[in-house]
Amino acid sequence: TAPVLTIDGPSGAGKGTVSRAVAKLLGWNYLDSGSIYRSLAVAVLNAGLNLDDVPAICEVAQAMLLEFDCGDALIVKLNGVDITARLATETTGNTASIIAAYPDVRAVLLQKQKDFQQLPGLVADGRDMGSVVFSDARYKVYLTASAEERALRRYKQLIEKGIDANLPQITREIEERDRRDSQRTSAPLTVPEGALYIDSSNLTIQEVIDQVVNLVV
Ligand code: C5P
Repeated sequence: TAPVLTIDGPSGAGKGTVSRAVAKLLGWNYLDSGSIYRSLAVAVLNAGLNLDDVPAICEVAQAMLLEFDCGDALIVKLNGVDITARLATETTGNTASIIAAYPDVRAVLLQKQKDFQQLPGLVADGRDMGSVVFSDARYKVYLTASAEERALRRYKQLIEKGIDANLPQITREIEERDRRDSQRTSAPLTVPEGALYIDSSNLTIQEVIDQVVNLVV
């Protein structure tokens, strides 16, 4: 079976950038599991569902067809329609975080994530990659940074993409999302056993990438 490197951590810690770079260096496949939760959020918003209607959300999750094109930039299609632009918004992220708290919803999305484990290897980025989805992964990393630093990074990302953003509001939302992701009963955000713990607050992206690649090679 293909080796797996899991990279878990809170929102805005740099997991996406680091995971993509490491996958490219190793020539491995890349799973951005957050984008699966975000795609479901878009599908749920499209369907106009009530966010506490768990059976209806599960039905939409089961029925949705996702296509990922992991070139230089990730392109995601939901039932044949390109939804890439909608994935990055705060509304999508916050909705994703709300529906991700339901165990039944997580169960439906489990297999869709496991399907990414293919040769020559997989870099899996998320919240519960090392603790649940790929709990017997060969390599595990937990990547974090202070809430202020993460908010600042997210803010810069959004501005670069031309999306209007407000730093105090993003900081509040990051703290709220942290609380929800770490306090939920189903697959809460935790440091997986045996994971290499990296606090990137005072590290460059390149320094983080080097530490992670060194774990594997
Ligand atoms: O990482 P990203 O910000 O794209 O994730 C959006 C939301 O999806 C997170 O706040 C989290 O609630 C949820 N998520 C999750 N498990 C994962 C990845 C994301 O619960 N493996």
